[in-house]
Order: sequence, then C-alpha cells, then structure tokens
Amino acid sequence: MINEKKDDGYSYATRDCPKCGTVNSNSPALTYSWKQWKLKSCSICEFVYLENPPGYEALVSEFAWERNHGDRSIRMKQEFPFTYHFSRVWKKFRRWLIRKPNKLAKRIKVYFPPGPVVDIGCGVGDYLAGLPEIYQPFGIEISEDLARQASERLSSRGGKIFAASAIEGLSEIKKESMSGIIMRSFLEHEREPLVLLGSAWSALSPGGAAIIKVPNYASFNRKLMGNRWCGFRFPGHVNYFTPESLRAMVESVGFQVEKFSLTDHFYLSDNMWMVVRKCNKIRNTD
Ligand SMILES: [Zn+2]
Repeated sequence: MINEKKDDGYSYATRDCPKCGTVNSNSPALTYSWKQWKLKSCSICEFVYLENPPGYEALVSEFAWERNHGDRSIRMKQEFPFTYHFSRVWKKFRRWLIRKPNKLAKRIKVYFPPGPVVDIGCGVGDYLAGLPEIYQPFGIEISEDLARQASERLSSRGGKIFAASAIEGLSEIKKESMSGIIMRSFLEHEREPLVLLGSAWSALSPGGAAIIKVPNYASFNRKLMGNRWCGFRFPGHVNYFTPESLRAMVESVGFQVEKFSLTDHFYLSDNMWMVVRKCNKIRNTD
C-alpha cells in the first residue's frame, strides 16, 4: 500500500514491501539509508526498498531524474573525494580500453518480433531514434520537457510519446499491441513495480518480449563498496533487486524468463539484464 503525505512542504509516500506487501514501518532502517531516505529490508521476503520515496508531484519537479543523477556525483565528490576522482579516471581508462558491445541493440534484434516497441523512461528518445526500421517507436516519459523533445524528434516515424508516469502511459496503450518493451534502468525507480510489470504484460501481444536492466543489489561491488556503491541513488532508486527477487516478480505477473544466464547477472557487474516473454494470452499467475 502507498500513502501520499506532505511534510515541511515536501511530498512523499510511505509504502509497504513492493514485492510481498508486508508492512515494515516498525523495523529499523538499513545503515545504507541516507539523510531522510529510509531503506528497509522486508522482514518477510528480504526485498530492499526505499520506504519513503518522493511523491509523484515532487518527482516531476525537485527530484526529476536528470537532477537526481547529478546529485549523486555531488554527494560522492563531497563525501568520498578519493573514490570520486579515482572512479572518474578509471571509467575514462576503461572506456578507452574496451569498446562495449551494444547489449540492448543485440537483445532487441534477437528477442523482439517486428512491430511497435515502447521504451519506458525514454528521455529525449535517444534510443528510440536508433531503432531499426522494422520497429515503430513509442515512449513514455514523466518529464514533460523531455517527452516533448522526444516527440518532435520521432514524429516522422509514427508511434507516440506519452508524457506520463510509466503506469499511466502503459494504460493508454492498446492492450496486446506491443512487440517489445524496453525497461532499461527504469524498474528501480518505480514505486509500484508489480503494477508496472502487470501493465507491461497486458500491453504486450502474445509472443512479445520485454528487456529489463536494473542494478544488482547482490553484486560483489555493493558488498565491497557499501555506501559508496554506484547503485545507491537517493531518492531516485526505490527498489533494490537481486537475481532471485527480479525473477520472482516477473514470474508472479505471468512472464516467462527467456534469457537470464550467469553472464547476465554476473556477480562482478553492478547491473543485470533479463529478457522475459509473454507466452500466453491468458495470465497465469498461480
Ligand atoms: Zn516483502
């Protein structure tokens, strides 16, 4: 359950475990918590989540995604200057050394049948603009400004951009109409991940697939770096998935996991990738 509250002019929600619904308001916050943001580990299923995320209203204004990402580098620079500078130099070096293959493009080509594809949290439509011609680009973006830019950019290719939250945007899409859904670095931001996954399932046509990329809370780096782990973003990241919890959640809404090999959730990597498919017309959630 989610309750919207307002306190000292700042709007926030309090929520129960987004995976199993347990109320954990009386259990202590994890030491990973930061400032007013409380991270909880569910007393029943151990899922780690932000208990008091900003309200939708605040997400659109003061905690917009673009700003939230900038905030992390400011925090790192102030609180962990050595790690911050070392990590910047290391990233530059790594980028120079290894040219990463485009994992998303590769997966789309293999797993998405031709047809309409929706990118949830599409930003200015960077990714959609590069989709091969066999796909018609749709996007959902909560920031009105970014959605408008994406819309202008993609107008010539059909499809549509919805300036809305992910769940509202998906509800405007015709059921069983999409060939593919991209949820890249998105699900960790969603306050109601099970509702979102259920809506994604409904929007897909039978045989359609979704590609999910989220930070991996079970990664070695999180255990090693603790508070400095790059997956901790306050208050932007509200769900902290492990390979087990992600699998359980997608299966609970009816998806079949199609690709989730050891290399997709390699313990040395900060992120994990999953491809799920809607195999049946009727949702089997038992
Ligand atoms: Zn739980």
